[in-house]
Amino acid sequence: MSPSINEARRRLLKKIALGTVLVPIAGSALKAIAADMPLVTSDDPTAKALKYVSDASKATDAKPGSKCANCSLYQGAAGSAQGGCMLFPGKAVKATGWCASWTAKK
Ligand code: SF4
Repeated sequence: MSPSINEARRRLLKKIALGTVLVPIAGSALKAIAADMPLVTSDDPTAKALKYVSDASKATDAKPGSKCANCSLYQGAAGSAQGGCMLFPGKAVKATGWCASWTAKK
């Protein structure tokens, strides 16, 4: 094997090893951050504009079964009670919540 292929392989293995270490750390950090974030409140201007509710069953426009936990913009871990949402930076939404921007998770 030529030296350049060995060097390329070495760099690739380093990146894989670094990713293997950092991805779980980043995931844990995000979960911890989400747990510490304040919940979106009903007086939040974005929440009002998007008709956010913490209980999807109380949303008049919600498609049956739609809720934050199965929205593609939800950033909480599977099974979490609350988590981040891409539309509410720095805040958490309830997994049971819903808003007009709900988009099915694929
Ligand atoms: S965009 Fe999705 S996760 Fe965010 S509040 Fe609306 S329904 Fe919930």
